[in-house]
Amino acid sequence: MPDAKILIVDDAKANLLALEVLLKPAGASIIRATSGEEALQLASNLDHIALILLDLHMPEVDGFQVARRLQENASSRSIPIIFVTASQEDSYIEEAYLAGAVDFIQKPIHSTALLSKVRVFLDLWALRSGLEQEVEQRKLAEQRVEHLATHDPLTNLPNRRGLFDELRHLISRSQRHGYSSAVIYLDLDGFKRVNDHFGHEAGDKLLIEVASNFKKIIRATDSVARIGGDEFVLLLTNIDCENTLVTKVEKLLIEATRPIDFNGHQCSVSASIGVAIYPIHGNQAETLLHNADQAMYKAKSLGKNTFQFFTEDINKIAHRQRELQDNLRKALPNNEFTVFYQPIVDVASGKLVSAEALLRWKSASLGNVYPDEFIPAAESAGLIPELGCWVLQKAMETGASWNRKFNIGLRLAINASSIQFRNNLLFDTINQQIALHNWDPDMLEVEITEGLLLDDSPEVMTYINEINNRGVRLSVDDFGTGFSALSYLKNYPVSTVKIDRSFIMDLPEDKENEILVQAIVAMAHGLGLEVIAEGVETLEQWRFLQSLGCDFAQGYYFGKPMPQTDFEDYLTKQHGISAIA
Ligand code: C2E
Ligand code: MG
Ligand code: MG
Repeated sequence: MPDAKILIVDDAKANLLALEVLLKPAGASIIRATSGEEALQLASNLDHIALILLDLHMPEVDGFQVARRLQENASSRSIPIIFVTASQEDSYIEEAYLAGAVDFIQKPIHSTALLSKVRVFLDLWALRSGLEQEVEQRKLAEQRVEHLATHDPLTNLPNRRGLFDELRHLISRSQRHGYSSAVIYLDLDGFKRVNDHFGHEAGDKLLIEVASNFKKIIRATDSVARIGGDEFVLLLTNIDCENTLVTKVEKLLIEATRPIDFNGHQCSVSASIGVAIYPIHGNQAETLLHNADQAMYKAKSLGKNTFQFFTEDINKIAHRQRELQDNLRKALPNNEFTVFYQPIVDVASGKLVSAEALLRWKSASLGNVYPDEFIPAAESAGLIPELGCWVLQKAMETGASWNRKFNIGLRLAINASSIQFRNNLLFDTINQQIALHNWDPDMLEVEITEGLLLDDSPEVMTYINEINNRGVRLSVDDFGTGFSALSYLKNYPVSTVKIDRSFIMDLPEDKENEILVQAIVAMAHGLGLEVIAEGVETLEQWRFLQSLGCDFAQGYYFGKPMPQTDFEDYLTKQHGISAIA
């Protein structure tokens, strides 16, 4: 607590000195004033004055006037004033109380009376300023708690709660002034990879730098919040046209990819951005944020490092996604799945060599849903590991029964999602099924996507190698639709590429694709890889592939994906193979 001060006021210096001596034992610091004017000045300039001892009779500004003027001023109103006077007149005393005095001391001064009075006032002052300090401290603590509750400690940006406060302000401001504002939902792509590879310290550093980069390119009236691990929301006030907004968003994409240095390593990420605009995409904080989030998901699904504006379509897609996920959760226990099989033939002879297992879903409430729609939904619902293993078990059980029944060596191709290379479930199930059916591992092929090979996380490489070491084949499905070049494949233990249907579809008219397919076959063979052409629908296409020396083909021309029993008929009819039994 600061030291208490006592201001003593008397036009006679001798009186002041005497008073000071008397007051010494009280322990407060003494300030002297030799006129009313000086007293007023000191009272307004000094803090922590606990008490004023004021002489009533002074030339020019007397004690009454000093007291009255102190009363008028808010900062000095609460300082207790004790009048010191030789006068005994009642009228004086009354006037003094009216002027604001709290007590009286008669001259000649009785030292013990003075001291005990002064001590009472000093105690009162100490009590009051202690309380004030406590109130002040509580206020500060409350402010700190409020800041913690509304801010992210790492970046010191507003958190989700802070964002909602700001978003509501933004909405009412925009409404009042009649302008549009943008809610930008930004999610970093590949942030997990930075954390996994370089550790959380690097991740933290990246977040802090990204946050400060974002701050640099927004205006003072705009704001940025961090509402999740790698999720930011920016609020842009008063956007005047869509073009400048797009420029801003493109700048954000660039800022997000700026690499940071971590112990000599360059770490970088990119961003997927969704934009919702007040008022056209909503006029409530929750709706705007939700819609911007949905648009961000759309940007992710379009291949990341890009942005999307919200549209009603995005909402429909999101609704459908939820519907699919809810129904998919019940689908396995309800026996709604079956496996279809599509023939894969040797191009030269047209003979059946393999069957690709393709999952089918007939939902009790949604009817038939195509895999291109439900597989991504099952992936995001976390159902793929279990479902993928179910397909594997079912297909191998069926394949084993055919191989027994028809005495043929039929190879099986199984599709695997990238998610299945994140843990050992797929690999363990493969091993288990190989052992169970005494299956030749070379007669099993796991189809992976190009995207998986770009995922350089350590567990992916581990499982790719384990599957290969087990003697099981790996093929790259839908080749040509992703990013990987053929030369890239030589770094991986892949035995086959499946040229995507889109390259075969328009043959022989499409000369450009003709050249591409020719080049892919030649280069793949150069790398020691086998080639399967997907989507072969015509005899010309087959002949063309024969002329290229393409190894295998799959497509409606040879057979559509079909249920187990139809495939058995196919085995019997198309190839003149009859069951042994
Ligand atoms: P995919 O692995 O590329 O399978 C080939 C797709 O092409 C199949 O579609 C098949 O019906 C279709 N197709 C084959 N030949 C022709 C043709 O001549 N013309 C035309 N127009 N289409 C042809 P489907 O069965 O709808 O499967 C779509 C995708 O879903 C598959 O593409 C695969 O990526 C995925 N998928 C299917 N089953 C599974 C599964 O069990 N697990 C996983 N992870 N993905 C699966
Ligand atoms: Mg496939
Ligand atoms: Mg394919």
